[in-house]
Amino acid sequence: MKLNDIGEFGLIELLKRTEKRHRPDVVIGIGDDAAVLKTTRPHDRRASKIYQLITTDTFIENIHFKLKKGRDRFFALGQKALAANISDILAMGGCPTHALVTIGLPGRVTVEQVERLYKGIDSLAKEHGIDIIGGDTISSPKEVLVSITLMGEVEKEYLLTRSGARPGDLLCVTGRFGGPAYENYGLRITDYALRFKEARVLSRSGIVTSMIDSSDGLVRSVIELCKRSGTGAVIFKDKVPAAAGATLDQALYGGEEYELVFTVPKSRLMKLKVKASVVGEMAAKEKGIKLADKYGKIRPLKSGGYEHFAKRKSK
Ligand code: ADP
Ligand code: MG
Repeated sequence: MKLNDIGEFGLIELLKRTEKRHRPDVVIGIGDDAAVLKTTRPHDRRASKIYQLITTDTFIENIHFKLKKGRDRFFALGQKALAANISDILAMGGCPTHALVTIGLPGRVTVEQVERLYKGIDSLAKEHGIDIIGGDTISSPKEVLVSITLMGEVEKEYLLTRSGARPGDLLCVTGRFGGPAYENYGLRITDYALRFKEARVLSRSGIVTSMIDSSDGLVRSVIELCKRSGTGAVIFKDKVPAAAGATLDQALYGGEEYELVFTVPKSRLMKLKVKASVVGEMAAKEKGIKLADKYGKIRPLKSGGYEHFAKRKSK
């Protein structure tokens, strides 16, 4: 079977099925926004109250970004590569701490460009209190590659995962969707915020049952929440907040917004202290994942979102 036939998410499911455990300290391995580890410092009182988080994201030229001639995009690339990783740590309710940066570069790249890449990384690292503690440097035959591994930590009681949603929970989102798709996926990150404060408030609220970030699109995030929680869901099309100019399709399937997608039991919605929109409701698994229009007409959704190896790409 070819990768084109199963796609990125099919491949990850396959890898998850073959996942082996050799250690007792892995709380969550493959399948969430970040892996969760028990601390290996059992006598440290603070450490015993926290979990370590670790995530990685890779950006490669001509798939994730283009380096057009005459335009310096290295600063923005550095920022974006770190932003994607920070977003994953925030989605677990955590704070980022340390990063390893791997760069694969063809010989045409200048030293000044690499410096600007690091300035971009540092600008966000400074803002979020992250130290770059190492990485790897390799030559690449053609394309520029940046891969960041980010560590973080979360107090045990504030950990949020993709797997706690229950049928009947309301499906909520921060911010607006489809902006990056409408803008044809530039590297700019100034026009979308990482939801640092919102993620902290949500993780401490005690009312959120599951959370994920929307890096691969709203629909893909909902599919992942459903898959990990063992539920179905209905998304109310007319409730999805689209960014200025974005079509509904871009809002549903576009991705790269780095917004938070989370679930809250109906009875606790009044306690929500974060600006958010209710865009749907979780349902029993047998109901599947559906889209409802404003007249209540329901139809199944196309899976959509960005998927590596997929034959049909929506961006
Ligand atoms: P995100 O978009 O939040 O970064 P991904 O969709 O990239 O998440 O990955 C989903 C899950 O699959 C994560 O737990 C990730 O660590 C895991 N994963 C992705 N690729 C691999 C791989 N090649 N081997 C093992 N686990 C992987
Ligand atoms: Mg994620």
